[in-house]
Amino acid sequence: FRMIRLLSKNSIYIPQLQKVRHLVTDPKYGFLKQLGLTTENPGFFDGRWGGSGKVIESVSPATGKVIAKVRTSTSEEANNAITESRKAWIQWALLPAPKRGEILRQIGMELRNNIEPLGRLVSLEMGKILPEAIGEIQEFIDVCDYAVGLSRMLGGSIIHSERKSHIILEQWNPIGVVGVISAFNFPVAVYGWNAAIAMVCGDTVVWKGAPTTPLTSVATTKIIAQVLERNGLPGSVASLVTGGYDVGDTIVNDTRVPLISFTGSTEVGKNVALKVQQRFGKSLLELGGNNAMIVTPDGNLDMAVQTAVFSSVGTTGQRCTSTRRLILHSKIKDEFLGKLKAGYKSILGRIGDPLDDNVLYGPLHNQQAVDKYNQAIESALQNGGKIEFGGKQINRAGFYVEPTIISGLSPKAEIVQKETFAPIVYIFEVDSLTDAIALNNDVSQGLSSALFSTKLEDISLWAGPLGSDCGIVNVNIGTSGAEIGGAFGGEKATGGGRECGSDSWKNYMRRSTITINHGNEITLAQGLKFE
Ligand code: NAD
Repeated sequence: FRMIRLLSKNSIYIPQLQKVRHLVTDPKYGFLKQLGLTTENPGFFDGRWGGSGKVIESVSPATGKVIAKVRTSTSEEANNAITESRKAWIQWALLPAPKRGEILRQIGMELRNNIEPLGRLVSLEMGKILPEAIGEIQEFIDVCDYAVGLSRMLGGSIIHSERKSHIILEQWNPIGVVGVISAFNFPVAVYGWNAAIAMVCGDTVVWKGAPTTPLTSVATTKIIAQVLERNGLPGSVASLVTGGYDVGDTIVNDTRVPLISFTGSTEVGKNVALKVQQRFGKSLLELGGNNAMIVTPDGNLDMAVQTAVFSSVGTTGQRCTSTRRLILHSKIKDEFLGKLKAGYKSILGRIGDPLDDNVLYGPLHNQQAVDKYNQAIESALQNGGKIEFGGKQINRAGFYVEPTIISGLSPKAEIVQKETFAPIVYIFEVDSLTDAIALNNDVSQGLSSALFSTKLEDISLWAGPLGSDCGIVNVNIGTSGAEIGGAFGGEKATGGGRECGSDSWKNYMRRSTITINHGNEITLAQGLKFE
């Protein structure tokens, strides 16, 4: 492989792009050239760093073939990225917030210009179907728009003091360098949620994406770097490091990174949280889910079926919010299951390359995911599970498995209790909404949940103190797919973090409580005399 440097200022990566160049000669993959991911334009960047870590492969989930080889950064280089990002922070934090908002506006515009090629790259490298991949870029654009508005609305408070001629203010200040470690399944959007809000708050970002989606990380960073550099700002405001757990660990342990925003599995996230806590850093955790959808006799059955199909098999079951458990009232269970199977059957003719227009259901991300799918099916069968639909690997190149429905398991079964990141949904039957809510809550995770009912008392029970204990509590929509306006995240083993809309921005700032004495005498709080 010919080594070519494609560097953004202060960011670290050296992709070896021979395979990508081969793809680029096929007009179908022309979008790679549009994103600058070829060996032909190395001068495009004028960066001064390069990775010297080990080489990793980016593999197409649709074919199982290597798309490109990418040289990662070493831990020492990740360390350098933090140093540069910290230097850039001083300049960035002092820019007035609306000026930072203007940069975010431009980033949003550049993303709009690149939505199609970047979406195609996500589809090629992650494996989700093109409309979902495009939707993911749109999510980043939406967050940029949100950040522009936020830049003129970052508020604090003024509190009346108990002391004469005193005033108390609460001001939110930028926190510093934010470490963003993200998962493979949303290789653009999760970074976008974090980066746009962190940047508008005055923080700089060091991002480590998933090691299996490095080209997407490179292309996304290039789009942002262009905007920063065009505005005379250092690229290290939004730095990228590429690599696996060792590079992640370097960021996690660095005291110069006051906030780690981690999106990934509960297992890894717990470890990350403990390490960050040990050094008194802050962590924002977006971990695994085990999401349930409840269907009552008072719900619209057709809407519920349509929703259950998308929520369970969309993104081939690889969303943190995918429906993993369907809790059905006994009165509608058989009818619902019949219709659900018909819905699943209609998907079978639409399985294939996620870049093809007619395809609704693509591959799993990699062989490891296929292995976990197979293990889950085996465990379910060993524990009395009955396959209602699917259950097998699909015999074709790439990492394809059948969308699967399983009934007959105890809700307490180990396999039901854990998140398998694959298109498997378990069916349970209940006789009341109270029992359904108890089942919904009886897992360690607490991300997303959905109820289908039109009865007001059902909805208020579900949304109230004795209802769903998840962060996302939906009514007559599925568990998957959220808008950026609300605070996104989950409770319990999902980590308790909130990102994106509402007041989530406060997670990216530190609060200064400022008491000002504008009088001529010293008075102590609580009327204390010290004379
Ligand atoms: P993962 O936990 O394997 O990896 C996530 C990231 O952590 C990757 O970048 C990985 O390289 C890095 N990492 C691994 N070990 C590390 C360590 N010791 N220190 C620091 N970083 C380390 O997760 P995945 O398989 O990429 O993604 C799937 C998981 O992510 C699922 O559990 C899914 O539910 C979860 N997820 C959650 C949300 C949410 O918002 N709650 C969103 C997307 C994905």
